[in-house]
Amino acid sequence: MTIVDRILCRPCIFCAIADGSIPTTLIYKDDKIAAFNDINPAAETHILIVPVDHVKSVKTLTTDHIPLLEKMHQKGIDLLRERGHNPEQSRLGFHVPPFNTVDHLHLHVVGGAMKSNFRKLKYETGRMWYMDLTQLHATLDKKRRLQEGARL
Ligand code: 5GP
Ligand code: ZN
Repeated sequence: MTIVDRILCRPCIFCAIADGSIPTTLIYKDDKIAAFNDINPAAETHILIVPVDHVKSVKTLTTDHIPLLEKMHQKGIDLLRERGHNPEQSRLGFHVPPFNTVDHLHLHVVGGAMKSNFRKLKYETGRMWYMDLTQLHATLDKKRRLQEGARL
């Protein structure tokens, strides 16, 4: 949440879903992550997986977040398999700001038939607007190397 949101008491919608203050059916929850269906699904299965503690977006991540990201990704794969989807043929990813609409990190877990060609493009990994875990790893490694270089 930004300081302006805090001052104006504008709550973060995904914090509120994860902590139960906005009633939403949670598919999964533990002390680190929560999963729930997207309100406007792009495909037959469209689940969002969020960290319980607020993280703004892929832009604010560091390599310290990798265990959390791996956990979110593994849960996404498990949920896809439970629903009969092949994770290799599914679309797990993060929209990169400014192509996101909610400023609380969320992994889209999109499986099965897509609702439109536009949605196919919107959730197509390898595009500058939609990053999968492999791309995110590479970006975080690069960020870490640059920061280490700057300290030398
Ligand atoms: P983004 O555009 O940031 O990548 O994705 C945000 C996603 O959150 C969208 O797919 C949108 O449909 C979903 N979303 C926004 N508000 C709510 C809400 O209140 N409940 C649920 N379940 N999903 C939401
Ligand atoms: Zn939040």
